[in-house]
Amino acid sequence: MKKVSIGIDIGGTNVKLGLVDEKGSVLLNDTFLTKSASSKSQLLDKLVGHIEMLRAEANHRKLKLVGIGIGAPGAIDVEHGFVYFFPNIPGWENTPLKKILEKKLKLPVFVDNDANAMALGEFYFGAGKNVKHMIALTLGTGVGGGLVLDGKLFHGPAFSAAEIGHMVVDPDGPVCGCGNRGCIETFVGNGYFVKEVKRKLDSGEKSVLTRWLQEGKELSPKLVQEAARAGDRFAKEQWEITGERLGTFLAGLVNLLNPEKIVIGGGVALGGDLVLEPIRKAIKKKAFPIAARFVKVLPAVLSNDAGLVGAAALAFSGR
Ligand SMILES: [Zn+2]
Repeated sequence: MKKVSIGIDIGGTNVKLGLVDEKGSVLLNDTFLTKSASSKSQLLDKLVGHIEMLRAEANHRKLKLVGIGIGAPGAIDVEHGFVYFFPNIPGWENTPLKKILEKKLKLPVFVDNDANAMALGEFYFGAGKNVKHMIALTLGTGVGGGLVLDGKLFHGPAFSAAEIGHMVVDPDGPVCGCGNRGCIETFVGNGYFVKEVKRKLDSGEKSVLTRWLQEGKELSPKLVQEAARAGDRFAKEQWEITGERLGTFLAGLVNLLNPEKIVIGGGVALGGDLVLEPIRKAIKKKAFPIAARFVKVLPAVLSNDAGLVGAAALAFSGR
């Protein structure tokens, strides 16, 4: 009997669910607006309803449902599936999510934060396949991370490990969302990248982007990528600067952990080789040679469904 799990990605805007097979393929998708539930108990009821629908479909297709994995941005006791809080969804402080759902559903439930879930998804089904030691990095508004060491997510005793985005690289740098100054997130997150490009354009740097912005296009990592692909020198340089900075930072992690792969996803990673090549170059130059030669830097491959496929991987891994 073919095995499947249900992956659930709880975000501040949408809750995405999917029936996922052991190869990471999404057999069936489902979604609802997080705000369509006005309280925690309503959201729990909705979750149970949507899960029951997917479970019925799995039974109908004669698939063996092994469990449910949930990824959410927040602080979670992974061992007990206990939510300390969700920063973007009010009312979830101190919720024993695993216990509540297991009681209602009579199925194993696994809960982890979304960055860890995404890392595990890439490790099981994506760019991190066939290795044991991997660092995953998601460059979005914030910079999220996950560590897979010896084939398992590394959580630390308080389940707070792998906050890679909040390693300080410049104590006098910009103020970060976490309250510190100069975390790597403030140098390579989407917001900073866009702001920095805008500042340079305003100071008179020549680029096709100036015209595009006058034509009403919105400045984003994607637009800077398009400009670079069109041969714009300024745009290319911005990717090089970001890649070099990130690569220098990652060289330290390579020395620390000797990973086999570093998998990078999210907005700034849209630059593809424009940003990955400078990263590889910086690692080669700045990490110890044996570790540097060993590590591969690759783009993440699970795009839109990364959250729910990663959550499904939590259930397959049994953790
Ligand atoms: Zn920070």
